[in-house]
This record gives sequence, C-alpha cells and structure tokens, in this order.
Amino acid sequence: MIMHKTEKKIIVAAAYVAAFFTVLNIALRIPAYTLVIMMSFAAVAAISAVILISVMLNYERERIYRERENISKMMHSINAMAILWDADFKFIEVNSELTKTIGYTSEDLYNIKNLEKVLPADAFAPSLQAIVNNRDEEFYVTAKGGAKVCTVWNTSIVSVNTIRKHKSYLMLSIGLDLSETVKMKEDLIQYSKNLAESEKRYMFSMELSEIGLLLKESGGSNYHISEQLQKMLGINTETISPGVFRARFHPEDVMIYDALEGTMTNTRSGDHTIHCTEFRMLSADNTYHWYQFRYKVNPGQNRVIADIGGAVLDITREKEKDILIEKMAYIDDVTQIYNRNKFMQVGQETFECYKEVNQTYWVIVLDIDNFHIINDTCGYLNGNKLLNEFGKIVEEMLSKGGFGARIGGDNFAMLIHDTGDETLPVTLIKKIQARLQEVSGEFLMHQAVTCSAGYCKMSDGGDNFAAILDHAEFSLSMSDGTKGDIIRYDNKVHEKILAGNALESELAHALENGELVLYYQPKINLADGSLIGMEALIRWIKPDGTIIPPNQFIPVAESSLLITDISKFVLHEACRQNKEWQDKGYPPITVSINLTAVDFYQTDVKEVIQGALTETGLDPQWLDVELTESLALKDIDHAIQQMKEIKELGVKLSMDDFGTGYSSLSYIQVLPITLLKLDRSFIMYLEEDEISREIVSAVIRIAKSKKIETIAEGIETVGQAEILKESGCDHAQGYFFGRPMPVDKFEEFMAMKCGTNVNA
Ligand code: C2E
Ligand code: MG
Ligand code: MG
Repeated sequence: MIMHKTEKKIIVAAAYVAAFFTVLNIALRIPAYTLVIMMSFAAVAAISAVILISVMLNYERERIYRERENISKMMHSINAMAILWDADFKFIEVNSELTKTIGYTSEDLYNIKNLEKVLPADAFAPSLQAIVNNRDEEFYVTAKGGAKVCTVWNTSIVSVNTIRKHKSYLMLSIGLDLSETVKMKEDLIQYSKNLAESEKRYMFSMELSEIGLLLKESGGSNYHISEQLQKMLGINTETISPGVFRARFHPEDVMIYDALEGTMTNTRSGDHTIHCTEFRMLSADNTYHWYQFRYKVNPGQNRVIADIGGAVLDITREKEKDILIEKMAYIDDVTQIYNRNKFMQVGQETFECYKEVNQTYWVIVLDIDNFHIINDTCGYLNGNKLLNEFGKIVEEMLSKGGFGARIGGDNFAMLIHDTGDETLPVTLIKKIQARLQEVSGEFLMHQAVTCSAGYCKMSDGGDNFAAILDHAEFSLSMSDGTKGDIIRYDNKVHEKILAGNALESELAHALENGELVLYYQPKINLADGSLIGMEALIRWIKPDGTIIPPNQFIPVAESSLLITDISKFVLHEACRQNKEWQDKGYPPITVSINLTAVDFYQTDVKEVIQGALTETGLDPQWLDVELTESLALKDIDHAIQQMKEIKELGVKLSMDDFGTGYSSLSYIQVLPITLLKLDRSFIMYLEEDEISREIVSAVIRIAKSKKIETIAEGIETVGQAEILKESGCDHAQGYFFGRPMPVDKFEEFMAMKCGTNVNA
C-alpha cells in the first residue's frame, strides 16, 4: 500500500519533471541528448527525494506506534485510573482501574452517552476541561450503579503526531479515587467534632463531680493543675512548683508528699499500679481539706523522673464521717483516749513501717496497782475518775509520733519512738508513776496509787504487732501488780513458759491417749530380803517409744490442774494393779503412790482415795501414800488434818525424801506418819562419810522410838545396804534391789522373789 502510494508519487514526480523539461526544450531549444541527460538527473533526484520522504514517514509512524504501545502498557500497570484521549477529547483507551472504579467497560465508554453519564451531567464540558487542564480539583464521577466517586485528575500530553497536516497529539489523564481519603477526612472531622464534644462533656462532668486533675510530666519541673483543681485549692495558675505545692500540705502529711516524689523515682517500667493516697492540703477557703489522690506513674524509658498524673478528689466530708465513726469505734468512753482496737491498728501500721525503714519503737503496757481495791474502797465513780486521769497522764507523756490507748480495764499502752536510749522506757514509766501518785493523791483522800509496767522493744522479736504487744503484756503479768514493778520482756523466760504450756497441752493429750503408764520399783525388807512393797512411779511413753521421766513433766502438771487428773489415774491404776496381782495369788504387798501439794491441799483427798479403793476393791492396808516433807510443812495444821483423815481410811502414810527439806525431826512427832523415807542424798555417801552414817542411824533411832518404820531410798551398793541394816533401818529401795519396772517385768520379779510364778 505504501509502495503503491510511493510509485504514484514517483510517476507524478517523473511526469512533472518530463513536462518541465519539455517546456524547457521548446523554450530554449536545448539539444536532445543534453535534454535527456538533464531529464535523467532530474528524474533520479525526484525519485530519491520521494523515497527519502517515504522512509522518514514510515519511521515516524513506527515511532508513534511504539509510543502508543508503551503508553498502553504503562496505563495498565499503574494503580490509578487512566484515560488516553486524542486532541478532540475522544477516548482512545481507558485502563482497567478506571473501568473497575466506575463499573463501565471500555466499550461502554466509547459511547458518548455513557461518558455523559459518568461525568457530571450539568458540567460535562467544564469537567472534561478540568481533567485536561491539570486542575487538581476534586470532582465526582458517577459510577454505573449511580454512586458518586470523588476523583482528582492530572493530564499531560504524551504523544505528538507530526505526520498529519495539522499536528495532532494524545493526552493521558491519570485519576485517583479519593473515596477512601474523603471517608477518612469525613471520619476525622466527625471524630474531632466528637472529641471536642466529649472533652466538653468531660470538663463539665469534672466540674460537676468536683474532680481535679494533677499532672507532672517527666520533662517539666512543675505540676499542671486542672481548672477544677485550681478552684479547689484557690490557685490562679495552671502550674505550680513542687516547693509551693509541698508547702500547701498539712505539716503532718508532708511525708505523704515526699512519698509521692519517692514513688516517681522508684517506679519501675512495666509497673501499672494505680496508687491511692490521702492527705490534707490548704484549700481555697484557707482551711485544710482532705484530698484523695488516685494516680499512676509512668516511668517511661531511660527517664530519671517519671510522668505522674491522676485525679484529686475532695473527701473532707467523707473523712469527717470516718472520723466520727472512728471516734465511735476507736475511742474509749471513760478516758476519751483511743481504745485497744485503735492501738492494735496503729501498732500494726507502725510495725510494718518499722520493718521497712528499721525505725523501732518501745511498747509499754501499764496497769494500775490494786485497782479493784481502789474501785471497791473509793467507789466506782472515783475508779472511773482515776482511769480518766491516768488516760490524761498517758497522753501528756507521749512524745512526738508516740501513741497511747486504754487497752482494757485498768491497762494502758504506749507506743514510743526508740531514740536509741535504752533507759527511756524506765525513765518514762517512773515519770508516769510519779504523776499518778501526785494526781491520785489529790482526789483519793491522799491515797497514793502506783502502777506497774511491762515493756519491750519492737525489735525484740515477734512476727506482728499482736505478738509484740503480747510480749509487753507478758512482762506485765510477771509483776504481782501491787508495787510499781517495771519489767522488761525477757525472751528466755517467755519461751520457758510457752514451752511449759505446749508441754501441758501435750501432756493432757498423753493422758487421754493412754501414754502415761506406771512402773513399779520394789521395796525390800532389809532383815530377810523379802519383797514388802512397791512404789508406783509414772512414766510418759510417747508413741515413738521415748520414755519421759516424771521430773520433766510432773512440775508442769503441778502448775496446772492436770496433776489432779494424773494423780487420780495413778491412784486408781496402782490400786487396780495391786489388787490384780493379789487376785492372781501373789503374796499381798503394799503399793505406794506419790501425791503433790496440789492434790493434797486442793482436792478432797480422802474421798478420792476412798473412791479408788472401793472401785478397785483393794484393802486400804495395801495402799501407802507418800507425801514430801516440804508438802507437809506448807500448811502443817491443814496437813495434819488431811493426813489424819487419810489414815482413818486404814491407808499407810510415808514421809518421802526425808532430809531434803527442813529435816526437823520434831515434825515427825506431830505428823501422823507410819513410815519415814530417808532421801537418797543421805544414802549416797554412807560408805565413805562418817557424818552421814551418824545422821542416818540417829534418824532411824528416833523414828523407832516414835514407832515409825524407816525405809532408805536410792540404795545402789551392797555396802550401803549392809550399813543401813546394821543401823536398824527396816526397809530399802534402790537400784541395788531392783529398778522401776514395767508391769510384766515387775511380775517376773515378784514371782522370782516369792519363789514361784503364779502364772506358771
Ligand atoms: P520419789 O518419789 O522420791 O521416787 C524415787 C525416785 O528415785 C524415782 O525416780 C526412782 O527411779 C529413783 N531411784 C530409785 N532408786 C534409785 C537408785 O538406786 N539410784 C537412783 N539414782 N535413783 C533411784 P523417778 O521415777 O524418776 O521419780 C522421780 C520423782 O518423781 C519421784 O521421786 C516422785 O517425787 C515423782 N513421781 C514419780 N511418779 C510420780 C507420780 O505418779 N505422781 C507424782 N505426783 N509424782 C511422781
Ligand atoms: Mg516417792
Ligand atoms: Mg523419794
């Protein structure tokens, strides 16, 4: 086709050249060969020109084609809408992004009607113009479903066609779908509108709820205070320096401010604790109000000082109510000072503080000596007045930071800061005693009243404040409460008593559990070596087999009422066992039991013994009751009376451990005893000590003269036994003859002694 056009042009050019030369020949009459040569040259030149022009045109067309192809590729590779126009605003091509956005196919868009649908109907031309004029203006195109799509366009000339008579060109419009951006923008506007409203509401509610805000940023040195807080505190500035802020705290609450500052430096990152603290601050009305500050510390990263911020609430009214309630719950009616509950509360708080900062305190417990007598003799009203005055003295003597309370009855307690002076409690207590004497003397008809005290140091031990107060009260209990004792807590004494208490409850359990058993030790007739009796000796055999001797638990039992039960058990069991052996056919012998002062003085011994004998069926003559010399001498008249009654039952009475007490032989004459038991301490040195021998034989002689039999205990050697026999001692007991034995072993011993085994 191109070649065909070129040929035509060549023929036309050749025809022009031929015509030119024909005219030239006619006009100038040029010779024919010259004309032919000229014509040939002209024809060659014309043909070359035509060929050159054709080649150039071809090249240009190809360039445009490639350019067009590149534009098309580019259009389809970009993430934006693209339209390629010709100079007459006719779509040449649209990309898929555009068709996807507006929902029309490219074929749809070639139809001008659809284009009108897409672009704003009332402003078709200006909009089109807008697209090409590079006006970065947003305008809406209408998608197929009718939805408006906000777009912005940028147009540039991308290809110029120089082949045509009039230069033609192509335009490429790149469009962006702004729907998302517009939505975000709208949302943002709505959000900021909402935010403004909610901030307004927030500020309003803050104002209504009277909550102030306090903030200190890590970078800044001052506190920011909200409008509400400014109103509450009567401050006209938005910021306040730490120094000025601290100065507004109540002097007693300044340490809370310091603690706040401390929290700021000590809070570790990741700690999201919400702290809450209460303090008094100078307020708008120039009085101290109570405030609650709920705050959070944000230590941030690598920051020395943290952000701190939170809400401040005026809690004065609630606090006043609390104070009233506290007064009702924590104030003692009679003295108007704090009561035990409050003392415990403050004490525990102080104790916890002491554990953290190691700042120790003294705990003093005071008791008015003979208060019940004062109450009885001077009247209830005077008693109350005395308590009231004592309360005042306690308050008066409190040092700064100390605390005092009436902890019950006539007991008062004080918590005193330890200044390092170990004599402080005694000095203070003595001052209190002096004041009490002075004050009480004024209204109690010059009757001087004293008080006793127990005290301890918080650091003396104890896991909580209750234990510490217990220590002080324990010390006070060590006094007899009559003459102004001042006793410091002694851990060792307390532990001993506590161990005794523990042993006591263990012992009670042992008795119920059958862990207490009787062993029997033989008593021998020194003249013929026959078995005349046995002493029942108690043993505590624990479930693990450990045997505990009586001197380790009898004193504990004696200090409680437990001994009464133990003694009843021993009495009953010894009688029962003895009767059993007699019933088995063993020759009847005496069983001795030991009684303590508690049994002897506090119970009706006669009835108890009578009961045991009746219940077991043992004849009274086979029971011997051993009483110690010191027991008998405690209240000799009562002892004689009791002993007589026991004796009347037909029971024997022995004086145990003779020689360990007053050892006065004159008592022997008045006490209705049948047997005198010489203590082991006399027997031990009999062989080597002349004086012991003389004492022993003198005692035996005197006893004999009073018709009292004698028995020696603790005989361990044959030498001791012989000396005693020579001295006229009737009976003997000791390891030499036989140790205390359990029932089965003693039965074997009995069988051996009487030459027959009744069981065999
Ligand atoms: P006691 O009544 O003077 O008992 C004699 C103690 O001397 C027994 O100690 C006995 O084992 C020990 N003894 C006997 N012969 C010898 C000896 O040759 N050498 C040595 N070194 N010791 C000897 P035990 O059984 O430990 O009893 C100690 C004390 O406990 C008794 O002294 C008695 O006062 C008390 N006791 C024992 N059983 C009872 C009981 O059932 N009730 C009460 N209230 N007290 C008891
Ligand atoms: Mg005894
Ligand atoms: Mg004895």
